[in-house]
Amino acid sequence: MDNITLKGKLIINGKIELLTGMHIGGTAETLKIGGADNPVIKDKNGNVFIPGSSLKGKIRSLMEISGYAKITYEKGKPGKPCECGECDVCLIFGPHSSNIKEPSRVIIRDGYLKANDMSEVYEKLEIKAENTIDRVSGTTIKGGIRNIERVVAGSEFNYEVVFNIYDKNKDKELIKKFIEGMKLLEDDYLGGSGSRGYGKVKFKELEATYKPKEYYEGEENLKETKSTDDLNQLTNDISELF
Ligand SMILES: [Zn+2]
Repeated sequence: MDNITLKGKLIINGKIELLTGMHIGGTAETLKIGGADNPVIKDKNGNVFIPGSSLKGKIRSLMEISGYAKITYEKGKPGKPCECGECDVCLIFGPHSSNIKEPSRVIIRDGYLKANDMSEVYEKLEIKAENTIDRVSGTTIKGGIRNIERVVAGSEFNYEVVFNIYDKNKDKELIKKFIEGMKLLEDDYLGGSGSRGYGKVKFKELEATYKPKEYYEGEENLKETKSTDDLNQLTNDISELF
């Protein structure tokens, strides 16, 4: 790409609703706080959130395995991220190599669990016991139960994505592809234990705001789309914003 001057920013705001319980594991830091063997990730104040890096990594990997990147994956070979620096995935998320100088377009914010206070946060957490089944007898192995903390189904998280726009027509196409990645995520899972039914999510109440470069200089008004739960509608509305 010749011109990498910022033309504006497109910001998508909305919510992520959990249709099933979700577990994104915490670090050793948060282990002390939770009662479960496997607590969900929380910040130092105990607020539950979906790290932007988790969302970004998940959508990126789904797009890579679905043919949006230049890399191909083979059975038995390590499934590394694309490093080409020129495919749609590398242009959206940035290349996985420091040698390639291309700005990444997308910033995904940490998404906090929507709750009025801490007691409401606790109400939205549950401990689920997961068994390990003895393959021969078909019964639960003694001591094979793990207590996994989950955010309960029906909970909502804030969702915010920022796209840096460098080339209006090209970047509209990339945003369309990214929203396709969001659709792939809705039919996949976020966090751990997806094959056990965890982590089914739905994006909703999505609205996009376009802020041209002039906006930051105090000149031009914002352009916004109407709120929608329909990802195709969102793509169409964004295509008319700038
Ligand atoms: Zn690539």
